[in-house]
Amino acid sequence: MSLEDRAKAAQQKAYAPYSKFKVGASLRVSGQVFDGANIEIASYSLTICAERTAMSAAVVAGAHDLEEVAVCTDASPPSSPCGACRQFLYEFARDPKAVKVTAINGKGERRSWTLAELLPDGFSGRELP
Ligand SMILES: [Zn+2]
Repeated sequence: MSLEDRAKAAQQKAYAPYSKFKVGASLRVSGQVFDGANIEIASYSLTICAERTAMSAAVVAGAHDLEEVAVCTDASPPSSPCGACRQFLYEFARDPKAVKVTAINGKGERRSWTLAELLPDGFSGRELP
């Protein structure tokens, strides 16, 4: 199953009872694939995005080298990752110019970028003392 098909399947697992905006993400990290879905909480600010649940699963499994991202929503055109997720993913991208991010929806529309395009001149741990 392709990364995009996995993101589409993960979207079905989203917990979004308030906004109904379901998001699925699938990431290739250190050669393995991890899926995630958004989880909405009644105290809205605690909501976590699909991209971050997937990356969190990767980290817990010991995988840290982000290689590719697929995100599926019902939006048209397909939604790109939010600013918080761009920063979160950037942490694990050894080369943000080489990390392809593809957004899709159920209509077959697609957009893609590199992570460096989504977060140009991003802040990373390399800048810390
Ligand atoms: Zn996000």
